[in-house]
Amino acid sequence: MTVTQQQVLDSLAKIKSPRGVALANANVLSAINATDGKVFFSINVDAAEARAWESVRAEAEAAVRAIPGVTTVMVALTAERKAGAAPPPPPPPPPSPPTPSRGAPGVQPVHAHKPPQGGQSPMARQSEIPGVAAVIAVASGKGGVGKSTTALNLALGLRDLGLKVGLLDADIYGPSVPRLTGLHDKPALNDERKMIPLRRFGLAIMSIGFLVEEETAMIWRGPMVMSAVTQMLRDVAWGTLDVLVVDMPPGTGDAQLTLAQNVPLKGAVIVSTPQDLSLIDARRGLAMFKKVNVPVLGIVENMSYFQCPHCGTKSDIFGHGGARHEAEKLGVPFLGEIPLHMAIRATSDAGTPVVDSEPDGPHAAIYRAVAGQVRDQLKGVIAAA
Ligand code: ADP
Repeated sequence: MTVTQQQVLDSLAKIKSPRGVALANANVLSAINATDGKVFFSINVDAAEARAWESVRAEAEAAVRAIPGVTTVMVALTAERKAGAAPPPPPPPPPSPPTPSRGAPGVQPVHAHKPPQGGQSPMARQSEIPGVAAVIAVASGKGGVGKSTTALNLALGLRDLGLKVGLLDADIYGPSVPRLTGLHDKPALNDERKMIPLRRFGLAIMSIGFLVEEETAMIWRGPMVMSAVTQMLRDVAWGTLDVLVVDMPPGTGDAQLTLAQNVPLKGAVIVSTPQDLSLIDARRGLAMFKKVNVPVLGIVENMSYFQCPHCGTKSDIFGHGGARHEAEKLGVPFLGEIPLHMAIRATSDAGTPVVDSEPDGPHAAIYRAVAGQVRDQLKGVIAAA
């Protein structure tokens, strides 16, 4: 059954803003995405009024859920701080109570999406995720450098080292974990109405791509990114994990910076190709994590050199070694070089990542070595948990 934007608007007709104006006329609604019975939109309000709007958000979600044919509703309350305005109130203490919903639980408010002013520890504002010892980000300055492929194979490398590992695909602009893992199911809800992560390769896996169509995800705006990622972190029954690897959206814009600030990260891995341009982007990534006091665990050079699948000859088509040099210059660990190889591309795109499908091959060994360095840096945190 098709659900139209007009039906969604009609369902909201009786809902009033905290000041008594009809919600539809309060100039706060984002564009409404209604595809295949899945409805998503945000209510954008001033940070100072965010708390007063939470009940409106819940009402809106309930009203949309009642439309015949609606299977999933996600209404995000997003708050923007106007330049010069007072700082937003602190976020409510997580874990947040899940909002009943047929598909995915409701999204909790994000109180600001402006980039943080440096110097504050993200830990000061973000409580940890119960049961998860360390959350780490895999980031890149731009798309297409192999960030997602690296994130998944790193997660598998950590698994091979005997750790309990989860993977959260937070790349809301282009979630690729469904493709990389071959998973396309929608997560079920447990008795506490938390989403149960999908399992494959011994990993607990969650992706925004399990919840929304790729095209829908791509038009989401920055504040909605944060809401959705918060939901996937806090409203998912992750269980007990040593490491949760977060595949970040590429780039270093406001949305990424806010994520880096609001996700309780123990560290970040930056993926770069050796080309100058992506190194410049990688440097921006480093600066971004520095700004929010997240330790950079190191740089991985992906597509480091071309290895001929037939004769094994190596060619430095992108000027191999740039990331290692850059890491030395910036004083961050260099985690390893991953070749540009057909086997990595083919296994990634077939949903059979190389560390799992060719565990005795040379590529798996490289990813495991990267994972070993990451594990060593997190040892204290994991042991403490
Ligand atoms: P990103 O997450 O940075 O956008 P992806 O991980 O989706 O990048 O990779 C982009 C493409 O490059 C995919 O087709 C993937 O299979 C391929 N790829 C990534 N790393 C390698 C590699 N080391 N060798 C060959 N192909 C790779």
